[in-house]
Amino acid sequence: MVAMDGPSGTGKSTVARRLAENLGARYLDTGAMYRAATVWVLDHDVDLTDPAAIADSTDGLPLAMGCDPLGEQVELDGVSVTRRIREDDVTAAVSAVSAVPELREQLVDYQRAIAEDDASPIVVEGRDIGTVVFPDAPVKVYLTASAEARAQRRHAQNTELGLPSEYDEVLASVQRRDGLDSTRKVSPLRPAEDAIELDSSEMTLEETVAAVAEVADRALQVSRSGEVTP
Ligand code: C5P
Repeated sequence: MVAMDGPSGTGKSTVARRLAENLGARYLDTGAMYRAATVWVLDHDVDLTDPAAIADSTDGLPLAMGCDPLGEQVELDGVSVTRRIREDDVTAAVSAVSAVPELREQLVDYQRAIAEDDASPIVVEGRDIGTVVFPDAPVKVYLTASAEARAQRRHAQNTELGLPSEYDEVLASVQRRDGLDSTRKVSPLRPAEDAIELDSSEMTLEETVAAVAEVADRALQVSRSGEVTP
């Protein structure tokens, strides 16, 4: 089990997926689960400012997650929402939905069930994996980067995709979501005390993948041998 946390825009998803691929492990994107819940809430016209209504609407959410690092699969009520969860209206609404404690409890139970369902290793990516969901994970990585570096990457990605993008607006949106995620009452975004922190601000994606793989490898060796190697 590798728990990988950190804010968005650090390259975390790509790194976690590659790591899972290299380890022959399963991969679980917990952000995709909160995004799917947000799609459900939007589709049912639930008031985003009403946490009780969000909790009611998402009780027994018919969500099914795939764990293949080579192809993400997210289904709601048997229908694929794998693309839909990445759309802008979902990204804008997800912080409000993910702050609802009853929903978090339900999704955390599902995350634990997925990990335990199978003895094969799994890389789980999110915000509270090392702190709340799997506090005993043998490897915890907290990947971070400055808000400016993360906004710059998102802006470059948008431009490459031909999407309209203003750096200042992207930066403001990154800072807004960081603020909401790190100050919420339930499971705020923060590194676990025993997490290994890596800052990817000055690293390319390839360098980040290599750095995380090295850290994870070392930590796995340590957890297997029960002692720290020099
Ligand atoms: O990782 P991603 O950016 O797709 O996550 C979307 C949102 O889901 C985050 O901004 C956060 O509000 C929420 N999230 C969470 N806990 C997790 C994973 C994601 O609250 N473990």
